[in-house]
Amino acid sequence: MYLEDTIAAIATPVGCGGIGIIRVSGSDASIIASSVFVKQGNGGLDSHRFYYGRIVDPLDGSLIDEGMAVLMSAPRSYTREDVLELHCHGGYLIVQRVLDACLRAGARLSEAGEFTRRAFLNGRIDLCQAESIIDLINSRTDMSLAFAQSQREGLLSARLKEITDSLRNALALIEAFIDFPEEDLDETALNRIDSLVQSAHNSLGELLESFAHGKVIRDGISVLLAGKPNVGKSSLLNALTLEQRAIVSHIPGTTRDVIEEIINIDGLPVRIIDSAGIRESRDEIEQEGIRRSLEKLALADLVLFLVDGSAPLDTNDRDLLQAISGKQFVTVVNKSDLPSVVGDNELPGQTEIVHISSKIGSGIDQLRNVIFKKFVSDGVMSSRDHVAVTTVRHRDILVRALAGLAGFCSRLSSGVSGELLAIDLRDSLSAIGEITGETTPDTILDIIFSSFCIGK
Ligand code: GDP
Repeated sequence: MYLEDTIAAIATPVGCGGIGIIRVSGSDASIIASSVFVKQGNGGLDSHRFYYGRIVDPLDGSLIDEGMAVLMSAPRSYTREDVLELHCHGGYLIVQRVLDACLRAGARLSEAGEFTRRAFLNGRIDLCQAESIIDLINSRTDMSLAFAQSQREGLLSARLKEITDSLRNALALIEAFIDFPEEDLDETALNRIDSLVQSAHNSLGELLESFAHGKVIRDGISVLLAGKPNVGKSSLLNALTLEQRAIVSHIPGTTRDVIEEIINIDGLPVRIIDSAGIRESRDEIEQEGIRRSLEKLALADLVLFLVDGSAPLDTNDRDLLQAISGKQFVTVVNKSDLPSVVGDNELPGQTEIVHISSKIGSGIDQLRNVIFKKFVSDGVMSSRDHVAVTTVRHRDILVRALAGLAGFCSRLSSGVSGELLAIDLRDSLSAIGEITGETTPDTILDIIFSSFCIGK
């Protein structure tokens, strides 16, 4: 990547829309603006002002579209470089032609995530803020959006800074001792170092704990509906998704025998998988359905074990129970609008039993509540600042930093040399720096930014 050059990309989704936006960033942005955009009246573009005009081919001046342009001069822009945005009509071909015009005028096609990478490299945001931008774009619920927003606003970075400040203060005390070895680390200094490192250790531990809910709120959970034919799996899927039409999305690419929908349970994204295939079939194609359903079973975070409360349990129910033993599950007794013939004492006792009727909609709220409580502890949703670790990358780094600090504390009490203690602290600081980007290897940066779309 060359930070010196000027990049361009289509910033809006591919397809037909009201407008399409082409974004250009780099030192040539204003030259490119003058090549491809002809505003009404004389003069160039003032920074941060919207202009109406014609977007033209830079080589022959032919009209491509009418549109708007805004130039945002460095450093007051997304990337901290000069940024040009061209707003044209949002069609497949037209945005491509405007992009081509920018490329012909001297820009290079940007790589995935390169605008955000430049914002990071130019110091406008740190790495965890950059990562939060992709979460922001992918958020499907208010809660995951709130978490992504707090990270983008720098709340996680601020928490990490408090921690690294404590560690740097402790390191300074140790280094002072290394510089003046004739002076012993006295009791007061030792206590001070110990308390600084302990407080950092505790805060890191709290952040690590937040991963449990942070991850589920960011990525959601998957819930498999398992039950013999006709217990009401499809009806339950419908009942669960009924009020959610606005945000429910059908996931493309799933097979006909496994249907998935994403619903929002009080901010928790829940992927409901209807395992129509399990135990329903004998022939080859259906066997494949069963195999896929069992695969889904292995991946599911929670299984809803459905039984028909209006008919006696049979071997199919018992076989299925056997198949899901070992998974986290909730027993759901459906058809409660009909006379019940299945007693709770016949059902597995180790987990919750929820009675519902998918037909009339009773018990569905309680079921949603049970699913929610399994994954999100009380208080998380009401927490004000929503600081949580949400990615495996951050989690792994925290584990490493915590192990380093635990080692430091035991060495501090056993009286090893200041040099060794300083190494422990520097290692932990360097680990935490991988979250914020100060010490992140380029290969990891490549992986992170390549998960962005082009134009972001
Ligand atoms: P699946 O094969 O497990 O997906 O079951 P379906 O959802 O297709 O339901 C099978 C049959 O049970 C259908 O005729 C539904 O109308 C009926 N059914 C589903 N849920 C209920 C319920 O809560 N009460 C009653 N009375 N019938 C239900």
